[in-house]
Amino acid sequence: MKNVFRGRLLRAAALLLALILVPVLSGAETVVTSFYPVWLLARNLAAGLEGVEIRNMAAPSAGCLHDYQLQTADMKALASADVFLISGAGMESFLPQIASAFPELPIVEAAEGVPLLSEDGALQVGDAEEGANAHIWLDPTRAILMAENLAAGLSRVMPDRAEAVSANLEALTLRLRALDEQLREGLSSLPRKDIVTFHEAFPYFAQAYGLRVAAVVNKEPGETLTPAQTASLIAVLRDLGNPPLFVEPQYDDLSARMLSAETGAPVFTLDPVVTGPEDPPMDYYETVMLQNMTALQTALGE
Ligand SMILES: [Zn+2]
Repeated sequence: MKNVFRGRLLRAAALLLALILVPVLSGAETVVTSFYPVWLLARNLAAGLEGVEIRNMAAPSAGCLHDYQLQTADMKALASADVFLISGAGMESFLPQIASAFPELPIVEAAEGVPLLSEDGALQVGDAEEGANAHIWLDPTRAILMAENLAAGLSRVMPDRAEAVSANLEALTLRLRALDEQLREGLSSLPRKDIVTFHEAFPYFAQAYGLRVAAVVNKEPGETLTPAQTASLIAVLRDLGNPPLFVEPQYDDLSARMLSAETGAPVFTLDPVVTGPEDPPMDYYETVMLQNMTALQTALGE
């Protein structure tokens, strides 16, 4: 009799608990990412998770967030977010605005603890983010660290999904390790190492694969060169033996075309994966990085 009574009591308690918990657990979770590269990682980490929506704040055509101005739609997206995933290392310069508008919103920084390079390419010691280069996702081994941070953040916010997120992280890590291996093999023995880029996005990539960013033209995308800058650049490029010029599909390549015409240096494309299709395949990052490898092989090969 006693056991039956206890059983009934337990069932009643379980039912009560279920009634309390159901509304919480069945509520869809909204994860908002700051921009494209973070979104690509996050949707891999959340693959197959029922009821979890991964929304990207900046449009997939927005590109890097340097000097990005928050829009009304961004604030609306963040108002319904359960967590905000950012790249960090200074990429999201608008962060203080978000922190003050949504003080309760958990923010997960992918760059946390990731070794950073300063804007001049030197490795930064400690966690000094001031003046750090923020394009960390272009080194796949750093992208793994980013994914680990994002996965840990997702698991903190959605503890009931931790196991699935961890399995997704494991699968993503294996893919990124394989990509790193492939890039290492494909780029380590190129006869030439110097590249010239038009956006300071590639130091991490160059360092990882033994290339050298000999010059970065135009720190601000779209900014044009003055005649004096053009003249000194042409002199620098000639001294370097006119290394190939790498433009990005996202940005105006006017100065690249002009420098190419002046020096004879060929122009190629490197994609920093800051823009892309609205519904790309899960391995879009890898695909673009391998296209970059092919471009570098063509440009720096025999
Ligand atoms: Zn950038």
